[in-house]
Formats: sequence, C-alpha cells, structure tokens
Amino acid sequence: MDVKLLVSLVCPFYNEEAVVFDFYESVIQAIEQLNDYEFEIVCVDDGSKDGTLDHLIGLSLKDQRFKIIELSRNFGKEAALSAGLDAAIGDLVIPFDSDLQDPPPLIGRLIRAWEDSDADVVLAKRSDRKSDSISKRLSAAAFYGTYNLLSHIKIPTNVGDCRLMTRVVVDALKLLPEKQIFMKGLFAWVGFKSVTIEYVRQPRSAGTSKFSGWKLWNFALEGITSFSTIPLRFWTYIGVAGALITVMYGFFIFIRTLIFGVDVPGYASLFVAIMFFGSLQLIGVGILGEYVGRTYM
Ligand code: UDP
Ligand code: MG
Repeated sequence: MDVKLLVSLVCPFYNEEAVVFDFYESVIQAIEQLNDYEFEIVCVDDGSKDGTLDHLIGLSLKDQRFKIIELSRNFGKEAALSAGLDAAIGDLVIPFDSDLQDPPPLIGRLIRAWEDSDADVVLAKRSDRKSDSISKRLSAAAFYGTYNLLSHIKIPTNVGDCRLMTRVVVDALKLLPEKQIFMKGLFAWVGFKSVTIEYVRQPRSAGTSKFSGWKLWNFALEGITSFSTIPLRFWTYIGVAGALITVMYGFFIFIRTLIFGVDVPGYASLFVAIMFFGSLQLIGVGILGEYVGRTYM
C-alpha cells in the first residue's frame, strides 16, 4: 500500500469564535474529498480574548487531525503563521485563513495544481477584489506598487498568504532568523519554482476583520523596510540635489549683489528655505530611525 502524503493546513485564529464551527464543517467537507492525502490542521490561537481557544480544544478532542497551538498573547498574524509553520510536519503545507475568505475547495485545487506541475509552490491569486471595500482595494494597489518599485524581490500582486508549499520550501523558510516577520516578503525571498492559480476571495463567513487601516499602514511600512534600503538612499539624492540648488542660488545672490549693490530681501524666502530643509532632515532622520529600530529589535 502506498503511504499517503501528509498535508498541513496552518490556520491563525484571533477572536474568531464566530467562525470556528463553520471553519470545521467546511474544512472537513473539503478534505474528505481528497482521500489520497492525509491531513493535519494546525490551529494557532493568537492570544484570543473570546472563546476561540475553548472551541478549538473542543474540535481537537473530537478530531485528532486538529492540533492546537496557543500563543501566550496576541503576537499578530505573521508570528502566528510562523509558529504554525514551525509546528507543521506535513509534506505539503498550506497557510489558510480561519475566516473562510479563502474558500476550502481551494485546498483541493492547490493540491491538484501541484500534482500537475513540477513546482514547489502553488500561489493562489485573487482574480478580483470584489469582496473588498474601495479603500482597501486602492490601498492594496498602492502598497503592491510601492513595494515592488522599492524591493529587489518582487511579491506577486494580489497573492495573499494562502499558497501550497512543499517541505523543502517550509524548511528553507524556517532557516530565516527574522524577528519582525513579513511573511509575504519571506515567501518571495526563499524563491523556488512556482505556478499560480486564480480564485475568487469570499466575504468573511462571520466576525469582523482584525486589520484596521492603521494596522495595515504599519504592516506596509514593516514590509517595505524589511526588504528595501532604497528609502535610506533616497535621502542622499535629495540632500545632494538640495545642496546643488543652494550653491546655485547663493551664487546667483552673490552676482546680483555685485551688479545691483547690497539689498536685503525679506525674510520670507529665508524662512521657507529653513523650514523646508529642516523638515526634509527630520523626515530623513525618521527613516534612518526606522532602520536603526529594526537593527535594535
Ligand atoms: N489573525 C491573527 N492575529 C491577528 C490578526 C488576525 O491570527 O492579530 C488571523 C485572523 O484570525 C484571520 C487571519 O489572520 O484568520 C486574517 O485576518 P483578517 O481576516 O482579520 O484579515 P483580512 O482578511 O480582513 O485582511
Ligand atoms: Mg479575512
């Protein structure tokens, strides 16, 4: 008899008591049709304050394939995923949101796409963002655009964390020493041959999104400063350009004074110039601080 390959689903849960039961039902239904594989479902409770953990423990008592990791507090989705990936022992590993926005039948599609290719990664790309608000769509487009402009290692547009990875890929990921984790960047960084399938992302099955605008903004900064130093270099060019302009302007004033005699122009231009370059310096120092902060962390 052939030994079946083990597939690990890695699912982060943060205050998701409203979806746990739905999650169980739909995942079981999806994997029951894939009986040429074994499954383990690694559920990471990311410090939930509601009944999520109790519900999960209930599931694991009912069904041995459900394994629970409890984080001691809320560490954020990236850390939860990373803990789950560490614990997953499958030959194939699929990070999977617990709110069912990535529909469970996608699991089978990812596995079939992997069987049909010689790739180590199968990416699940959202074919549209109809389930997202206008502001989320715009900010996502702005983020992917900026990130890929600034970083050498491009991340595929509209591909979330949901993807299939083989054991070699997961082992490569586990070697990375990152403390501040930006999963999408790390996934792209490890490389490997990939194929992409498209799917339609569903609205949340219940509960509300755990990512506010402010959290997403910080997440975007985190992602960009993790994988690009261009924002640091940018200020060198601004500085050089500012210095050149200042020298030219100084020269211009000098000539004008020689021709027209001494004149004392109003302080307005002086004030504007000082404020402008002062602000530029502050922004530059801020960005520098961002990176020094990363080193410190
Ligand atoms: N999540 C988590 N820790 C957090 C925030 C979110 O584990 O601090 C989980 C959450 O339970 C969900 C997934 O990450 O399974 C995606 O979060 P959410 O659905 O809120 O984000 P969105 O889909 O709106 O981007
Ligand atoms: Mg979601």
